[in-house]
Amino acid sequence: MAANAKIVVVGGGFAGLEAAFLLRMRFPDRADVMLVSDTDRFLFKPNTIYIPFGADPEDLHIPLSDALSKRHITFFQGRVENVAADKKQVSLSDGTNLPYDFLVLATGADMRPKEIEGLADHAETIWTPGEMTRLGGRLQELRAKALGGAKQSILFLVPPNNKCSGPLYEMVFMVETWLRRQGIRDHVDITYSTFEQGFIQAFGPRLHDVVSKEFAERGIRGHLQDVASHVSANDVRFTNGERREFDLLVAFPPYVAAVDYEGLPKDDRGFLSTTLETRQVVGFPDIYAPGDAGDFPVKQAFLAFLQADAVATHIQSRIGATPFRTPFDPVSMCVMEMFDKATFAQVPLRMTGDPDRPVEVRPGAEDEYKVGVSPIWRLGKKLLGVYLPMRFRAGEPFHAGTAWQLMDVGLKGMSGVLAE
Ligand SMILES: Cc1cc2nc3c(=O)[nH]c(=O)nc-3n(C[C@H](O)[C@H](O)[C@H](O)COP(=O)(O)OP(=O)(O)OC[C@H]3O[C@@H](n4cnc5c(N)ncnc54)[C@H](O)[C@@H]3O)c2cc1C
Repeated sequence: MAANAKIVVVGGGFAGLEAAFLLRMRFPDRADVMLVSDTDRFLFKPNTIYIPFGADPEDLHIPLSDALSKRHITFFQGRVENVAADKKQVSLSDGTNLPYDFLVLATGADMRPKEIEGLADHAETIWTPGEMTRLGGRLQELRAKALGGAKQSILFLVPPNNKCSGPLYEMVFMVETWLRRQGIRDHVDITYSTFEQGFIQAFGPRLHDVVSKEFAERGIRGHLQDVASHVSANDVRFTNGERREFDLLVAFPPYVAAVDYEGLPKDDRGFLSTTLETRQVVGFPDIYAPGDAGDFPVKQAFLAFLQADAVATHIQSRIGATPFRTPFDPVSMCVMEMFDKATFAQVPLRMTGDPDRPVEVRPGAEDEYKVGVSPIWRLGKKLLGVYLPMRFRAGEPFHAGTAWQLMDVGLKGMSGVLAE
């Protein structure tokens, strides 16, 4: 390519920023990188779990224009509504049209609570900082009632088509620890109900065992294969005829794509159909969909980073006419907060093609499947909470450079001692 390649990245979340910063790192001056986002701030979603317990939502945001301008990435604040793939142009709602050579659609996911009758009206949900603040208020109300001697019940609910159940497991364990610390645990019944076949199904049998053991030790009733069909003001009904009552319902609703791109191939929830290794949209080789926007069945920030890295290196190999050697390899990593300890998991995944169990622990990669439970893992979560915002504020990708090598060594060292 004689002129600079025009690369338009849509979305200022994990996948969008990682792709944009890595592309800029690889191409200090041979590419025009532009980023479009409908908001002017990055939100560090994983740490919104602390909001119900007093964290300030403002601390979880990073202004995009400061970070992007450090790397000479042009920022457009606007809503993308349409991609004209035939003209290689993306259109914003204010009428701006941006031509591209390569387009990265990293617009993430959204919630569709209305899919379960009554859920939107009667459940507290955990998607946005505002919802987390509201949940904090409800927990305080529940605390006051329990302190007044009233018996209370909390039901945690994962309905079908939620694609990232982990945060609701964090929430049930954090709430349980918090209630104990408030001295009111005996006044509150806790039930966890999920459509999954195993607890945190995407992370395999060892996470299921950890959760089952924790539920038993903490007196939490857990129910699997519970398919919610109807929610009213004080109970949830399930397709198997069960009915579970609650004073407070906390749910993580079904997922859909944030943007339904007309003319591009997608699944029934709007997630863009992609080639696994490169994240190219099927039939549209110049369009990529890393992160929650694409059809990888598990939606997670760590996987979004890996996908964005594959996208950036694939575009790099095409511009530089060099071999592509770093396809997306879905090895998930997560640290599940519980307040009194945390659970670490590293899980090599394989897609199965079975809609009820779309991923499994990759056969033959058992050595890479690591799980550990320890209070020290809370430190790992805190380290990530400092490291990632530091990188993005500086206009640097998560997975690159000396800082990542140090972080990687730290995590590997911790998992060598604290996970098996
Ligand atoms: C409570 C909670 C806790 C979580 N905890 C973890 C965790 O511990 N570990 C983990 O790995 N994952 C976690 N996740 C999942 C993780 O946050 C997501 O997988 C991740 O945010 C996906 O990144 P993304 O870049 O694909 O999408 P997003 O981060 O959602 O970014 C999408 C971007 O696109 C922009 N956008 C959307 N529509 C448009 C449009 N029409 N035009 C322009 N811009 C648009 C948005 O404003 C946003 O900037 C958690 C999620 C939640 C809700």
